[in-house]
Amino acid sequence: MYLLNQEEQKMFVDQLRKMVDDKVRPRAAEIDEKEEFPWDLKEVFQEMGLFGLSVPEQYGGNRQGHLYTCLAVEEIAVACVSSSLIVQGQALGWEPILIGGTEEQKKKYGPMVASGDVIISYGLTESGAGSDSGAMATRAVKKGDKYVINGTKCFITNGPVANLITVFAMTDASKGVKGISAFVVPTDSPGFSVAKWEKKMGIKGSPTGELVFEDLEVPAENLVGQEGKGFVYAMKTLDTSRPVIGAQACGVARGALELATKYAKERVQFGRPIANFQGIGWMLADMAAELEAARCLVYQAAQLVDDNNPNKSYLSAASKLVASNVAMKITTDALQIAGGYGYMREYPFERMMRDAKITQIYEGTNQIMKLIISRELLK
Ligand SMILES: Cc1cc2nc3c(=O)[nH]c(=O)nc-3n(C[C@H](O)[C@H](O)[C@H](O)COP(=O)(O)OP(=O)(O)OC[C@H]3O[C@@H](n4cnc5c(N)ncnc54)[C@H](O)[C@@H]3O)c2cc1C
Repeated sequence: MYLLNQEEQKMFVDQLRKMVDDKVRPRAAEIDEKEEFPWDLKEVFQEMGLFGLSVPEQYGGNRQGHLYTCLAVEEIAVACVSSSLIVQGQALGWEPILIGGTEEQKKKYGPMVASGDVIISYGLTESGAGSDSGAMATRAVKKGDKYVINGTKCFITNGPVANLITVFAMTDASKGVKGISAFVVPTDSPGFSVAKWEKKMGIKGSPTGELVFEDLEVPAENLVGQEGKGFVYAMKTLDTSRPVIGAQACGVARGALELATKYAKERVQFGRPIANFQGIGWMLADMAAELEAARCLVYQAAQLVDDNNPNKSYLSAASKLVASNVAMKITTDALQIAGGYGYMREYPFERMMRDAKITQIYEGTNQIMKLIISRELLK
């Protein structure tokens, strides 16, 4: 919070914290246990206008800068990472349209995304095309005034509950990544099906699906922007979204640090609170310092995204790399501070540790973040 210098930002965070305390925190353990999408919380976020944070005003939203999406996702992730993905996933699915779409497309889809009346997902990954997303096998063939899409996407966040998917498909495989295009696909189209609802280690309340597109037809007007530009839109989208994952990582790390601090002050061994042992106090100090550093990086990356700064890919990747590693370390150390109780499912520590792990994997693994950072350095 220490970088927030505008009154509106502080007020926004206060509102979020109140909402998280009232609505999200009491539901977090149950969401994890039941592995259910929290429709009730989606409505709460909708009422607060959180889906409009990534949509500019002229397209029906209330975007005031990328930092606001980061703030919302961090605050929700303090209590429940699964729930934070509802806001994050919506921004991710919409961003390719904002980046590459025509004015008509932004005007058409912006208001429905911003209101939360539709859920939109981002469909890039395939079983044979993960880090190497350019190796995708999904094809879109133009037939008259339609495109016919065939293929399967995997691990798609919110895919099983989405109304729209931004699907990336090859329109000209001979051109490699320059032959990839993006399409807005309504999930009520004939030929769409959810083949699998994944069982996961963490973020269990966030639906992750395998989605099949079989001779699925969309009107040519559903092509986002221009043919052959899909890969550029996909990569630019990830530049905007990685600081948000960094914010999510800071959120879960902060949640774990707050709980560990409270636990250390209350838990008595050898006749005194364990917080009084230097070994524990120094652990907490390292956790706090690393979290502050990660958050500074995330805010800075969010600013570069807003400024369309040429260094935004570099810093976005760095913010996700650092914040996700910090989240994994802090959640692990928090569990350690809680000892045997930390290992029990009765306490939130183990859930936080499981949830933190995903931030090192999705939107590009941390190995891929290092590739991006080193590529920029060595240019
Ligand atoms: C819960 C969840 C939600 C997701 N949500 C979405 C979503 O909404 N939309 C979407 O499109 N995708 C989504 N993904 C996919 C995610 O982005 C990919 O899983 C991720 O990019 C890695 O791809 P992969 O799993 O195929 O791993 P692989 O690419 O097979 O990588 C396996 C290992 O090899 C390493 N590796 C790969 N290439 C290199 C290299 N060149 N140098 C060094 N190491 C390398 C990786 O770092 C990793 O450790 C989601 C994934 C998960 C688990």
